Amino acid sequence: MAEFALIDRIRARTTGRGDVVLGIGDDAALLQPRAGAQLVVTADTLNSGVHFPAETPPADIGWKTLAVNLSDLASMGAQPAWCTLALSLPGADADWIDAFADGFFALADSSGIVLIGGDTTRGPLSLSVTAMGQVDTGLALRRDAARVGDDIWVSGTLGDAAIALRAWQAGTLDVRQPADDAAIEFLRQRLARPTPRVALGRALAGIAHAAVDISDGLLADLGHICTRSGVGAHIDPTLLPVSAAARARVGDASAREAALRGGDDYELCFTAAPTQHDAVRALSERLSLPLTRVGTVMAGQGVHGAGSEPHAPGYEHFL
Ligand code: ADP
Ligand code: MG
Repeated sequence: MAEFALIDRIRARTTGRGDVVLGIGDDAALLQPRAGAQLVVTADTLNSGVHFPAETPPADIGWKTLAVNLSDLASMGAQPAWCTLALSLPGADADWIDAFADGFFALADSSGIVLIGGDTTRGPLSLSVTAMGQVDTGLALRRDAARVGDDIWVSGTLGDAAIALRAWQAGTLDVRQPADDAAIEFLRQRLARPTPRVALGRALAGIAHAAVDISDGLLADLGHICTRSGVGAHIDPTLLPVSAAARARVGDASAREAALRGGDDYELCFTAAPTQHDAVRALSERLSLPLTRVGTVMAGQGVHGAGSEPHAPGYEHFL
């Protein structure tokens, strides 16, 4: 298949938006941002064998390529709007593209983001998205806005994706197909199809002070908030939300360790004044999403309370 046939296959799957003046097909797209909004722009690349196991099904790769970018928009409190897709493909395989598009557009269409352009080249498998969203001027959730005394919250459960990845490395989890065991299947889904917390991020604008999405592990990502905000953090590991599946699979202590250090969950970590406690609880109820207070922002620096402390920002997981 030729490059243009590949692009046409992708273009056929895109939906429209009133604010896309000109989409795929010209040298560049023309977009009409909403008055009173700021543009939020992020880019993330996934490389085969580095960011996902090479045998990952293309539909899961498509989902995750977009999910990691939507997660960055979510952590800024943005409403997703537009994205581009740069594909480096070893070959022009129509079935592969169609399956990739199944996963990509399942998430795009349910998130209200539309594909407005991209690039298609031959090379080692690599997928790169630039995602754009909008946020009311001044309301973006930033890493540098945590205040001493804030509660530290996390969404969902933590550590699931890291436990799934380790199970795959140990040969006890197959990323290519659903598992019979319900706990393993839950963990596999958490790795293969992370849910970007877009609705949560949007609702937190006006409630939270600082936010970050957890891609490299809670310690590392909360560490970024601390550095950028010039504050420290105290975490109580006994409060960390871990799933029943994680606990069943590796036991309580390892599940908590994975919750602290494991990446790839794409949950949100945010800080909010204690006076917002009830508002956060109400949000959890409304979104049917667990929101758990795990610690407090303190004067100082670094993340404390999690064992051998303080944890330097930029902590590397999977050492
Ligand atoms: P140019 O050579 O001018 O950069 P291309 O031939 O690369 O243009 O692309 C033609 C059109 O197809 C452009 O509008 C481009 O944005 C779009 N496009 C190319 N690859 C992709 C892709 N993987 N996904 C979405 N749109 C794409
Ligand atoms: Mg051109």
